[in-house]
Amino acid sequence: MAAIKPRVIYWFRTDLRLHDSPALKAALDLEPEVLWPIFTWDPHYVYQVKASPSRWQYILDCQQDLSDSIRKLNSKSKLFVIREAPQTLFPKLFSAWKATHLVFERDTDAYARERDKVVTDAAKKAGVEVITRYGRTLWDSDEIVVKNGGKPTMSITQLQAAGQKIGEVPKPIPAPDHLPDAGEVPINFDQDQASKTDDLNASYRSKADNTYRSIAGPKDDFAVETLEELGFPAATTPHRGGETLALQQLDKVMADVKYAATFRKPETSPASMEPATTLLSPNLHFGALSPRLFYWRAMQVVEKYGKGASVPPESLTGQLLFRDMYFAAQAAIGSPYIQTLNNPYVRFIPWHLPSKHDDADTGTMAISGKYHVDSPQADKWFRRWKAGVTGFPFVDALMRQLRIEGWIHHLGRHMVACFLTRGGCYVHWERGADVFEELLIDHEPASNAGNWQWLSCTAFFSQYYRCYSPVAFGRKWDKNGDFIRKWVPELKHLDAKYIYEPWKATQAALDDAGVQIEGDGLSDDGRDDIYPVAMFDFQERKSICLAAMKRAFSIGLHGNDEAVKNGSCLRK
Ligand code: FAD
Repeated sequence: MAAIKPRVIYWFRTDLRLHDSPALKAALDLEPEVLWPIFTWDPHYVYQVKASPSRWQYILDCQQDLSDSIRKLNSKSKLFVIREAPQTLFPKLFSAWKATHLVFERDTDAYARERDKVVTDAAKKAGVEVITRYGRTLWDSDEIVVKNGGKPTMSITQLQAAGQKIGEVPKPIPAPDHLPDAGEVPINFDQDQASKTDDLNASYRSKADNTYRSIAGPKDDFAVETLEELGFPAATTPHRGGETLALQQLDKVMADVKYAATFRKPETSPASMEPATTLLSPNLHFGALSPRLFYWRAMQVVEKYGKGASVPPESLTGQLLFRDMYFAAQAAIGSPYIQTLNNPYVRFIPWHLPSKHDDADTGTMAISGKYHVDSPQADKWFRRWKAGVTGFPFVDALMRQLRIEGWIHHLGRHMVACFLTRGGCYVHWERGADVFEELLIDHEPASNAGNWQWLSCTAFFSQYYRCYSPVAFGRKWDKNGDFIRKWVPELKHLDAKYIYEPWKATQAALDDAGVQIEGDGLSDDGRDDIYPVAMFDFQERKSICLAAMKRAFSIGLHGNDEAVKNGSCLRK
């Protein structure tokens, strides 16, 4: 009897691309009779993860581009977009589609591991072979952890040492030049199975009209949905995603050999009108660009340039090493990685509002869920920070750019994160990370939480006495304040002398610029001739925060200490 030819479901998730995909190669190496490229909306992301319309637009762009590329290789295939929780969908697909294999790229995010275990167990039960490959990072994050002695990589040198033990970053694999036909896609699952839904299957419910819909989408054709169909308002970001654009952008970056070979991150400007860095992060996040392709293209350019090229950690390859460092840290720590509570690697800081008269160890906090409840004053500062109305023009410009474009420069992220936490407001870093999760188009759990820990000096970095000044730091890059003039139009005409510190402006200068400094920005009626009063005296806050950080460091509690877990560290 002839052997059955493999019938493969290829599950796209964090790898919305055809080039350099070890998992896709493994699927094609099976020489399948049929291969279904699918994506299924996971309600965990649809309902639990906050995301702006701009990030939704970005993933839809990536899906559409991938679907078009698949179709170009085989007119009998495309990306089949399904709307159902993977945990309940796959058992039905396995039998209805008579699949023999399920192949996907490995994902080391905490939730993804749990989900993939459920799906893998279901596959085993159905007699379906599961094949996975890593491809999201330079090295396999789990292997990095093993080579780092089972511990999270908390520094770039640890990552580099562990990487060296594994060996060279693998060379990228070319995109396939053909794809098998997709098989039939019946979804009239038998009633018994179809009714075995649970809460997860709220994913059937359309956000637009709150009605249940076919898992094959509004037109029953497995097409990529539009933002409108999903019930979201239009995206505000000018940045668009997808493998085609990502590869073009990579080509553009590498074509400027001097820029790419001598890239030194600390020398790129957070106040530049055009992004001073590559802006490849959102495509890396959605897997529309392979980090290994990026890495090897950067290595080639460095080799070509020769003497004078930059090296890690400041170089382009260094940036990718940071990314791998955070992924491996998350792979080792698991779900507590994105928070303080239960995380042995994160310092406990009693974030709240230490005012001039306050002791930093007292306060009205209670441990509630993920982060601590702030005092009303700190809560208001947080809301003003989020809305971009702190009264510090450089901070406000960055926060407004973040809200509209969904991307800001790395050093801009440094500025606003330091300001919210240890260098101004003394608000919990998890609150800031939540805002970034909502607004960034490149939101990556491993990188976001890790960088917030870095900036708040709770992990990865500990030099809390080095703070970013919202006045001097911006001015260093942009003396005339053009970046502020763009994002804070209320101050468009203000003399450059005052643009970073309008509280110092004379009445005549304010009159000339047609602006009044008034209110807290939260309650104004959208008048464009009013700019808010600064929330506080920065120098005063800086010394209060420094003293509080010093005290917290000397106490030295971490997220898994009993006193933190039971909340006794917060009581007097
Ligand atoms: P480039 O400078 O061109 O770097 C190339 C690539 O290297 C980036 O695309 C990115 O994938 C990676 N990279 C660079 N710096 C870092 C870094 N410090 N950590 C991890 N990866 C890095 N990056 C995210 O991708 N997602 C996030 O959610 C995220 N949140 C952040 C939160 C804070 C508070 C801070 C300070 C940084 C955060 N970063 C995050 C890291 C960094 O700011 C962005 O990766 C970078 O600005 C993206 O722009 P780019 O693609 O032009 O970067």
